[in-house]
Amino acid sequence: MIPVTKPYLPAKETYLKLLDEVWQRNWLTNNGPLVNELELELKEKLGLKHVLFVSNGTIAIQMALKALRLKGEIITTPFSYVATTSSIIWEGCKPVFADIDAHTFNIDVNKVEKAITKETKAVLATHVFGNPCDVVALEAICKKHQLKLIYDGAHAFGVKVNGKSIFEYGDIATCSFHSTKLFHTVEGGMVTTNESETLRLLSLHRNFGHNGPEKFDAVGINGKNSEFHAAMGLSILPDFDKIVTRREQLTAIYNDMLVNFKGSKQSIKGGVTYNYAYYPLLFESEQKVLATIAELNKNWIYPRRYFYPSLNTIDYLEEKTPCPISENIASRILCLPLYYDLTEKEVQMIARIILRAQQYA
Ligand SMILES: *Cc1c(COP(=O)(O)O)cnc(C)c1O
Repeated sequence: MIPVTKPYLPAKETYLKLLDEVWQRNWLTNNGPLVNELELELKEKLGLKHVLFVSNGTIAIQMALKALRLKGEIITTPFSYVATTSSIIWEGCKPVFADIDAHTFNIDVNKVEKAITKETKAVLATHVFGNPCDVVALEAICKKHQLKLIYDGAHAFGVKVNGKSIFEYGDIATCSFHSTKLFHTVEGGMVTTNESETLRLLSLHRNFGHNGPEKFDAVGINGKNSEFHAAMGLSILPDFDKIVTRREQLTAIYNDMLVNFKGSKQSIKGGVTYNYAYYPLLFESEQKVLATIAELNKNWIYPRRYFYPSLNTIDYLEEKTPCPISENIASRILCLPLYYDLTEKEVQMIARIILRAQQYA
């Protein structure tokens, strides 16, 4: 069976050696030495000022909304994983959808500006499939209208734009280190900010608001992560460049094989150091996607419809805003299998089945 993704596992000995240390110390969680070491290494690797390792990428978004004290409307993208929208609602705010750009699949800056009202407090945008949003234009709009800017960078580990880490943009940026993501800690995530007051609040929030054992300076939550998760991250981080190189190779094979594919791809602007986190393919019609999925499934290949459905159509939303571009792209998108252990032969086989299915759909 070929799934859309498989977690990368580091050499077992590397991980077990770190676990030996954990056993010796008997310090399992609560900001232990491996968590500190991982945060230091992440800062160095990504060139960031501050990094907080947290339980997952969803709590990271929730902590970001909380630390910026946002209440009201948050303009967001309908084309993302559900956690982007649900976190806004979970924090008692109202998601307001601005449609996406048909080529980059990221939130359309012009539509963001049109969606601003008196109640708008912030913009929460996703760097979809690791493709950077128009960070310069979004920052300008947010400055002009005094809005906070948060980036859901769950897909964007290792991405750079204009030579800078993508996580340096925005008031707060988040990442997910879930097993299915490019860099992972089994479960985990990160929040980062350049602002020291925001950092102070984020670290208070991560640990129940504790400022010392008997003092509570804020309402907090448990957003901590453990030594075991940090050990996985520390074991994988040295392999990260190798993982990206492998994915780049596999991507090149897909590109070669699919040169006659009658559909399109996400466009990524110049000046971007890309991470090859996904291989999204945009089909000509929903019917063609469904026919292709059926054909792939017959061969035990399981791609995923990322992102489907478009988040503006979710049942629990009180207000439904049409986002025709996002709905249209969501209906035609398919992410192909892409992971470190995928072989070149498998990529060729997947591409051939797709081309063949196209002819008959
Ligand atoms: C995976 C993902 C999340 C959630 O991260 P978890 O670590 O699974 O909580 C949020 N946003 C996007 C865009 C994601 O892909």
